[in-house]
Amino acid sequence: MDADVVVVGAGPTGLVLAGDLATAGARVTVLEKRPAGLSNLTRAFAVHARSLEMLDARGLADELLTKGQQVPSLRLFQRLTISLADLPSRFQYVLVVPQYEVERLLRRRAEEAGAGFRHDTEVTALVQDDQSVTVTTADGSTLRAQYLVGTDGARSTVRGAVGIPFPGHAVIRSMVLADVRLAREPADPLTVAAANSSLGFLAPFGDGWYRFIGWHGNRDVGEDEPVDLDEVRSIARATLHDDYGMGETRFLSRFHADERQAPTYRAGRVFLAGDAAHVHSPAGGLGMNTGMQDAANLGWKLAAALRLPDAERAAVLDSYQAERHPVGKQVLRASGGILRAATLPGPVVAAVRGVAIGLVSRVAPIRRRAALTVSALGVAYPRPGGAHPLVGTRVPDLPLEGGSRLAEALRAGRFVLVAPAGAPLPEMGRAPGEADPAERVLARRADGDTTTLLVRPDGYVADAA
Ligand SMILES: Cc1cc2nc3c(=O)[nH]c(=O)nc-3n(C[C@H](O)[C@H](O)[C@H](O)COP(=O)(O)OP(=O)(O)OC[C@H]3O[C@@H](n4cnc5c(N)ncnc54)[C@H](O)[C@@H]3O)c2cc1C
Repeated sequence: MDADVVVVGAGPTGLVLAGDLATAGARVTVLEKRPAGLSNLTRAFAVHARSLEMLDARGLADELLTKGQQVPSLRLFQRLTISLADLPSRFQYVLVVPQYEVERLLRRRAEEAGAGFRHDTEVTALVQDDQSVTVTTADGSTLRAQYLVGTDGARSTVRGAVGIPFPGHAVIRSMVLADVRLAREPADPLTVAAANSSLGFLAPFGDGWYRFIGWHGNRDVGEDEPVDLDEVRSIARATLHDDYGMGETRFLSRFHADERQAPTYRAGRVFLAGDAAHVHSPAGGLGMNTGMQDAANLGWKLAAALRLPDAERAAVLDSYQAERHPVGKQVLRASGGILRAATLPGPVVAAVRGVAIGLVSRVAPIRRRAALTVSALGVAYPRPGGAHPLVGTRVPDLPLEGGSRLAEALRAGRFVLVAPAGAPLPEMGRAPGEADPAERVLARRADGDTTTLLVRPDGYVADAA
């Protein structure tokens, strides 16, 4: 074998995965068709609370915070504000930061942990048997590994090579994207507005640049039609009622968005994660966040599969599909819902939208649910029958004895046994996917709660008592 795991694609999903696998001691090689040093096109700019927690558990969140702007509320459609200030997390905001900053930190971590990177290396084909997967790259060379993960984006070659379909449809065409400087600062840090069948979204990068995404319902042109600043300004005026004196630009493009999801994220020894497994519109800023969390779910399971006996391997690998496919489905629904609420034309829809917004604004539990969905803090995984009610739920960043936090204990990439203070260490059997209980990190909680938790490397409860 040339590697334990080959990861195809060094976007945010592949980088989390490569770092997690290498931290767990696996030999991992990342194949990326882009030349070294060429940034992935800047697309995502919103990092939500659950992703920040995940980055915190890898020692990267505090550094990322210095690169972006914290936005504590989302103002949607003029009248609706979703506050993130009371999210049950250390991160009570969305961080607006360019995708390349997230990738830079993840890349550094993966390299430090020992992941190997090969650039200018495009995967063109792959075959697998009972023992291994062999990939072929554009220059004709081959590489053999025990497992392969396609994190190669929406047009995934890996997905095509193993024959997994990608059903769905285009949901919005001819959106424009502009990174601009403004003469006047908007009153709200993050604004989304829909008006006259148009949609406008404006967010700050925190360094003087703003990202504008707009859509004009009556203008449907091909993606290669150039975008000029006048078009951007006119959509901004139609939706946000101001173009804020948009001036210098550094990036202008036109794009479309599809809603698609692979029915299965696995074919034998080959897995899909991130945009290779699911795509949707940018509404909600959920794509990169969901991809990184797919990787956090899959990484420790693959690392465990390399060490577990045959009989136990299947269950832990199957749990990736069981846990992440429903999350992908819900993300498509949430993102699609936001987009449709914003863009459907007509006075009846506008009236319904008004009523719905009024309802969401007034009813605290609905507002809270919306915040938990967008931030992904509300994600919980299926619980086996008879298991403790906490199994499958996300563990908040508990304070631990000695002044540290759970996020810090998770940085070793292992299971963490969190025992109550002052009591003898409780017995807790080996959890599904746990290769060796002797490797657990042991910690005592400092919040007075007497529940013992066995926490998975991705921060969800494996067992509790
Ligand atoms: C306008 C816009 C705004 C967005 N805003 C947000 C946001 O605010 N928040 C958010 O969470 N998401 C957002 N997204 C979505 C986000 O950008 C994607 O979900 C994210 O980049 C997916 O990461 P990934 O690693 O799965 O795939 P990608 O980032 O697409 O990375 C795939 C990598 O694989 C490489 N590759 C492809 N094929 C091959 C091959 N055959 N061989 C080798 N390498 C290959 C590519 O070069 C690339 O580096 C936005 C998207 C758009 C278009």
